[in-house]
Amino acid sequence: MLRWSSINDAFSLLRKLISYDTVSPEGKQYEEFAKFVKGWFEERGIEAKIEYVDKDYRSKVCPTGSERPIIIAKVGDGDPLLEFNGHYDVVPPGEGWESDPFDAKLVNGYVIGRGAVDMKGGVAAIMLAMANLSNWKGSEIKAVLVPDEEVGGLCGTAYRVNALKDKYPVGKKVVIAEPSSRTVWIGHKGVIWLEVEVSGVQAHASMPWVGENAFIKAASLAIEIDRALKEEFSKTFSKYEYTSGHPMAKFTVYNIGGVAYSTSNKENVIPGSFKFSIDVRTVPEVRPEDVVRKIEEIVEGRGKVRVKFVDQGILNENSELAELIEKTWGEPKRVCEAGLDMRFYRGYDVVTWGPGDSMEAHKPNEKIRLTEVEEFAKRYAKLPYLL
Ligand SMILES: [Zn+2]
Repeated sequence: MLRWSSINDAFSLLRKLISYDTVSPEGKQYEEFAKFVKGWFEERGIEAKIEYVDKDYRSKVCPTGSERPIIIAKVGDGDPLLEFNGHYDVVPPGEGWESDPFDAKLVNGYVIGRGAVDMKGGVAAIMLAMANLSNWKGSEIKAVLVPDEEVGGLCGTAYRVNALKDKYPVGKKVVIAEPSSRTVWIGHKGVIWLEVEVSGVQAHASMPWVGENAFIKAASLAIEIDRALKEEFSKTFSKYEYTSGHPMAKFTVYNIGGVAYSTSNKENVIPGSFKFSIDVRTVPEVRPEDVVRKIEEIVEGRGKVRVKFVDQGILNENSELAELIEKTWGEPKRVCEAGLDMRFYRGYDVVTWGPGDSMEAHKPNEKIRLTEVEEFAKRYAKLPYLL
């Protein structure tokens, strides 16, 4: 039986994983990727299945792009003990690459390529750990590799946890192998996306007396919201520790105008309507519904608020798994500033803990230290023996 033995295996595997174009939501090579991984597991005597996201669900929830294969590999038998989760989709390469983003290079001990850290490095660590556990005779350990994390996770981890849970029960403990910057994430902040629309009266730019400029009204409203939120959020200083260690991270933060446009969008038209977005990241001590209400109160009578997305975040405060990881490997418990797939595993003992520095994610020339991938493969392979 094939086993993993050296660092060359980690590099050749990671390089192979990066070579597939798994940019979401297009998923050009999702299928090829899934088939390769399934075959790789089977060559090592590990049972692996591909489950496709149901067609009707897909046409409603994620109509763009290809089929959504979810790979589920397992060792052991009986009560599910542990589940490793990794997403294999990546964000588009973008500009600024010094080498082909899908042809990984090894430079000064770092693997460079799209997805190296977010998170094909973590996926490789899971696969290598499973290979090392191929003779495991204890309770079931699963590796679940999903698409679509970068586009919201509804056709990835959400589908696994909800639609596939009867066929493949979720393990009591769950490790998501995202790069957690040498900490173990016990939760992440909440996310709120709102759209504010302000109305005016559309007219020709040469005759402002017949129009009413929605942009100017929206701009003053935006400044007012900015002041009010700054004051409101300064009242709650979170008691939790965050990955960046920056003092600002301990507050609820927000971004106004990430999307902003007049519906007429023309120089010589007085905008009759203007829309702008608000993105809020709540600390666990702040309830998203209170934030939405606060913004609605400010906007009241001057515009319309549309709630596009709300996630309250997750906090697995008394995680036994995080405790064990901290004790064994000395990596401290933190809350992640950004949203993660772990919210879909609410109710399980879930942590996010994987190789690499999260600051590298989504950048050009994205990189991960190869020894970290190998180190995590060993840690993951040891973890079941400690449970
Ligand atoms: Zn990721």
